[in-house]
Amino acid sequence: MNSIPIVRQEKIIRWLAEENPLSIDELARRLNVSSMTVHRDVDALVRLGQVTKVHGGVKLGQSTTQSTPQMPTCRLCNSAIPERTSVILNLPSGETLEACCPHCGLMLAESKHPTSILMKDFIYGRIVNGLQAAFLVGCEIKLCCLPNVICFASMEDATRFQMGFGGCVMSFGEAQHTLINDHLKVVHEH
Ligand SMILES: [Zn+2]
Ligand SMILES: [Zn+2]
Repeated sequence: MNSIPIVRQEKIIRWLAEENPLSIDELARRLNVSSMTVHRDVDALVRLGQVTKVHGGVKLGQSTTQSTPQMPTCRLCNSAIPERTSVILNLPSGETLEACCPHCGLMLAESKHPTSILMKDFIYGRIVNGLQAAFLVGCEIKLCCLPNVICFASMEDATRFQMGFGGCVMSFGEAQHTLINDHLKVVHEH
């Protein structure tokens, strides 16, 4: 169970809600993984703006200091990663990739075969499992990449957004399929 990054990352968040901060060593002990693995999980959570690293440990919330001036960029399109729509792909190798929005996350997932994808619910900002999320594709809300793809934890929320902003509500697989086909069309036009 503990070998799945999203499961570990959810546990870390849950534990931190009860005891804040926690040391990396303590997390490694509780998760029964190496501290290297904990560092990788924590790095993913830091990039999602969920936690901050403190000396030897980690605490909930974003850093208030400008200690990390290096801005991460999207692995697919190289644009800056807006905190609100950031996506993290956990690869089988243990590597993590970041994307600027679900559009790029879905495209990357097609070629990288991640073990899990962490996305943010567009309304609540909570981390959701991308594979089980609902997506609104091509609505009127302008994000960084076109066609825009917005992630929701539930079909109901996606459908409610669709009523106001148009677009198509899709599952992970449907949204990915749509993007890949759309992408091919664009490539063929050149
Ligand atoms: Zn991107
Ligand atoms: Zn984007």
